[in-house]
Amino acid sequence: MTTRIDLRGLLPQELEELAVRLGEAPYRGRQIFRWMHARRAKGIEVMSDLPRAFRERLALVAELPPVRVLNRLVAADGLTRKLLLGLGDGNSIECVLMIYKDGRRRNTACLSSQVGCAMGCSFCATGQGGLQRNLTASEIILQALALGAELAEGEGGNRISNIVFMGMGEPLNNYEAVMKGVRIFEDPSGWGISHRRITLSTCGIVPGIERLAREKPPLELAVSLHAVTNELRDKLMPINRRYPLEELIPACRRYAEITGRRVTFEYALIAGVNDRREDARGLSRLLRDMLAFVNIIPLNPVAGSGFKGVPPAAARAFVALLQEAGLEAAIRDSRGQDIAAACGQLRFASREVL
Ligand code: SF4
Repeated sequence: MTTRIDLRGLLPQELEELAVRLGEAPYRGRQIFRWMHARRAKGIEVMSDLPRAFRERLALVAELPPVRVLNRLVAADGLTRKLLLGLGDGNSIECVLMIYKDGRRRNTACLSSQVGCAMGCSFCATGQGGLQRNLTASEIILQALALGAELAEGEGGNRISNIVFMGMGEPLNNYEAVMKGVRIFEDPSGWGISHRRITLSTCGIVPGIERLAREKPPLELAVSLHAVTNELRDKLMPINRRYPLEELIPACRRYAEITGRRVTFEYALIAGVNDRREDARGLSRLLRDMLAFVNIIPLNPVAGSGFKGVPPAAARAFVALLQEAGLEAAIRDSRGQDIAAACGQLRFASREVL
């Protein structure tokens, strides 16, 4: 049995080449791209401005795998929705939609980049299950399609405005597929999402950050920091033993200098662990004079991690200390705790919600 080409993960140029291989003009490839990503076509047969004979030839060699939603959970706020999606090989992944109606209205899709994760961060549910495999670019796009379909007319009707790679997996460990996804999201004839609205979050893979600095893909970089000493970061995030702070922070500095884009540092406040005055001082020292922003995240509870978050007043006081030291910092809104959809709470096989 021959495997058919998955059209959804192909860049416009690759679709043009496919069209030429099938005896058509290159512009047919761009038409297919628009059908899939701007008009959200569910199958080749509906691409009505392609000649019927071409559609038939295309369907023999290529396909658009269906979106399979296995489960859907809506948070009490009604604005955060988590989907469990089934993949062709029987694996499943989670992704989250966050609708913001106040101030800057936006619909953010939080996407996974891997089935599970090998990084083993101690506060994270995904890391507890290990890594199964990387996702393909098509499976990355599939999540945004499924989440877009959740939006009602009054909520922007299918319009995902922001993408964050903060779901399951370490995106820089699946660099090629994630970058392909990013280019498809950014293409104006497809999703048309500007680079300022696409954020990749890493646990600190230094060679990946250096590659981003060299290649400058259209995205914003966020780094999960969570500790200002190697001693503590080694415990929270095992990747720190491979890429300690004295390598990670200079790599982030170089990224900011080369790209001219600021780096966002994520810092989950954990009661009695990294929430002291000296931690705030250490953070200010580490990031001094860097184009940087610090997101303070009240920790989301994960069963079995043993960690507790801090009260809102303590989080505000921590932010104030950073600001006094000259850092740009804010508390990040954390959504969906009641459906285990907040940061670090996604699992690759949420059988418990089926
Ligand atoms: S926090 Fe991110 S990098 Fe760490 S284990 Fe969880 S998914 Fe992996």
